[in-house]
Amino acid sequence: MDLNQVTDYVLAAGLTDKLSIQKNNNHLKFSCPFAQWTHEGSDANPSFTVSVHDDGASTFRCFGCGQKGKFWQLFTTLSIYSGSDQLREMGQALMAEESRPSTLISRVVGGLGTPQYVREVYDMDPLWNWFDTNLPNATVCNPGGHYLIQRGFDSRTWRDFGCRWDERDNRVVFPVYTLAGKFVGASGRTLGEDDNKWKHYWGTRTELGFVSPVYYEGETKTYILVEGPFDAMRCWQHLTKLGLAGIVMPVAISGCSISREQIDQIELEQLLTWVMFDNDTAGNKGANQAHKLLERRVPCCEDLTEKLPPNKDPNELQLHEFRETISL
Ligand SMILES: [Zn+2]
Repeated sequence: MDLNQVTDYVLAAGLTDKLSIQKNNNHLKFSCPFAQWTHEGSDANPSFTVSVHDDGASTFRCFGCGQKGKFWQLFTTLSIYSGSDQLREMGQALMAEESRPSTLISRVVGGLGTPQYVREVYDMDPLWNWFDTNLPNATVCNPGGHYLIQRGFDSRTWRDFGCRWDERDNRVVFPVYTLAGKFVGASGRTLGEDDNKWKHYWGTRTELGFVSPVYYEGETKTYILVEGPFDAMRCWQHLTKLGLAGIVMPVAISGCSISREQIDQIELEQLLTWVMFDNDTAGNKGANQAHKLLERRVPCCEDLTEKLPPNKDPNELQLHEFRETISL
């Protein structure tokens, strides 16, 4: 973003008016928009700057009250003070704009075997930084780990999904990636059975991607499209036992309504695709819809949902039931 674009955003958000903004070189200067909360009196002698750096990144800083951060954070932080939805949305849109891939980090995790890291993460992605900083526990620790074991998932399974543990909110957290490997969100599952057991994290857009294994070997030939992370983990565990993990890849869409972005990504891969939603009314409807949208865009799409035992989710399948459903 250049200085003109930055200026447009500042003016569009009403942070100052055209007459009071000073532009020079790669900086804007105006009165601190946080002043009514963070300064004593107004900021009549402007101490607030927005800078555009050589690499295209923009930052803000107030020499009066010390507020500083990336340009998009100016809007999200200000929205917290002012309660403005419009500012929050602008900040989120800008954040998405800025989260273009840059430096690639490859990671190899130790422990069980030597898994191959195949999804890519980018260290300049603000969303990824937020996730990695706030949820540093790469291995799910108790009580989350205990909970997953109780539900029949082994530690290798949740490690393969890159699960994290959210200590503050007592949640098991699943990262959401596009099929091309861009981190777009995170979905958290509380340990109880309350109504709001699933929660998508602030600022993340889970409908742009999938919950799916991040560590695996081999080339994928088939996708199994499922509704939720637990469905994907159950399939993965069964596929591991059948020696098909990675060749067949479960991908969860976070709900039973597939998004246009998800369809577009699957189309790019041109693989055989099985739809396996929950065999209930909502699941059947969603599966039907997904099948209809996909069948003309991938070489072969099959809806296996009604082959599941009535009212069962993929997550509830025993190994033999899973085998029967995929006709092995
Ligand atoms: Zn200030």
